[in-house]
Amino acid sequence: MLRLGLYVLAGLLALALVGYFVGAAPIADARYNTVQAEPPYDPSGRAQALHDTLMVADLHNDLLLWGRDPLTRHDRGHTDVPRLREGGVGLQVFAAVTQVPRGRSYTGTDADALDQIPFLAAAQRWPVRTWTSRFERARYQARKLRRAAARDGALFLLRTRADLDALLARRREAPSAMGALLAVEGLHALEGNVANVDTLVDDGYRMMSLTHLHDNALGGASTGLVNGGLTDFGAAVVDRLAARDVTIDLAHASEALIDDVLARTDGPVVVSHTGVRATCDSPRNLSDRHVEAIAAREGVIGVGLWETAVCGTGPAAVATAMRHVADRVGVEHVALGTDFDGTVSVPFDATGLPLLTEALLDEGFSAQDIEQIMGENAVRVLRQRLPSSE
Ligand SMILES: [Zn+2]
Repeated sequence: MLRLGLYVLAGLLALALVGYFVGAAPIADARYNTVQAEPPYDPSGRAQALHDTLMVADLHNDLLLWGRDPLTRHDRGHTDVPRLREGGVGLQVFAAVTQVPRGRSYTGTDADALDQIPFLAAAQRWPVRTWTSRFERARYQARKLRRAAARDGALFLLRTRADLDALLARRREAPSAMGALLAVEGLHALEGNVANVDTLVDDGYRMMSLTHLHDNALGGASTGLVNGGLTDFGAAVVDRLAARDVTIDLAHASEALIDDVLARTDGPVVVSHTGVRATCDSPRNLSDRHVEAIAAREGVIGVGLWETAVCGTGPAAVATAMRHVADRVGVEHVALGTDFDGTVSVPFDATGLPLLTEALLDEGFSAQDIEQIMGENAVRVLRQRLPSSE
C-alpha cells in the first residue's frame, strides 16, 4: 500500500514537472504580453499607404526572453519576425533581460527580491548555466538571435556601420530585409566585471542600458530604491562602452544617473523606450529637462506603446507623447521604442503598427515627420554610433 502510494506520488510529481516545463512559460508569455485589441487591424487607406513606404525602426523589443521561435508566426505575445515584417519593421533592436526582481513596481523595486528569470529560464529549458548567471543569460539570448539570423536569410545582425548601410541598400530591393541590433537591458549582466563588456561586444551587442528595474552596481534605476548616480564601477563601464562604440541607452536610469552619464560621455545617446512626464507623470518617464538634454546631445527618445508609459490605451496616447517631444525639442529627436514583449499591455501586436502611423497623421504630423519618427531618426543615431569596422 505504502509503495503504491509512493509510486502515485512520484508519478504526480513527474507530471507536475513536465507541466511546468511545457506549460509555465507559455502561460506567463500569454498572460503578461497582452494587446488591447486583437488582430487583424483596420487602418485607414491613407495611413496604410504611407506606412507601406516606411522603414520602421524600433528601439526596444524583449522577444528574446520568451520561448517563441523568432522565425515562426505565433498568436501569443506581440512579435516574431513574420509579424514584425508585416508591420513594416526594417530595423529591430532586440534587448536581453537578465534579472527581474519579484514585486517590481515603479515606486521602488528591490534588487534583492527573488529574481524571476531563473524560473523562466528553467521552464524554457535554457542551458543550466543560465539558471545561475546573468552574464550567461545575455550570452544565450545573443546566440538565439544569431541562430535565427543564420536560419532566416533576410534577417541580418548589425555589427558595423557597413552592415547597416548594406541593410538600407537591401531594403530598396527587398522590403523583407530586416536588421537586428542586440542590446542589453541593465549591466548587472556584467556580474561586476568590466572585461565582460568585451565578451558581449564580441557576441554582437551594440547597445546597452546601465540599469533596468532595480539599482545595481553601476548606479540607480528610475524605479529603484535609492535612485543614485554613477558609481566608480559604473564610470569604468561607461568608459569601456565608449571605447568599444557601444550605444548608451539611458532608459530605466535614475535622474542622477542620466546627469552623471551625460557629464562623462560625448555624442548622441538614446533613451530606447520611455514615456515623458509632461504627458504621463511617472518616475519611469523622462522629465522635460532630460528631454532637452538628450536632444542637446543629438540623441533620440524612443516613445513606448505601453499603457503606463503614456497613461492611456490606444495609439493616440503614444502620438500625444511624441507630439510633446517634437514640440519641445524638434521632431528629429523623436523615435519609436515599443517595448513589445516586455511584459506590458500595448494597443496592438506588431502587425498593428500602421495604426500608429494613422494616429500620427491624426496628430497633425506630416508624412516626412512620420518617416523620421518611425525610423529615420533612430537609424541616423545608430549609424553614427556603430563602429566602422569590427
Ligand atoms: Zn525596459
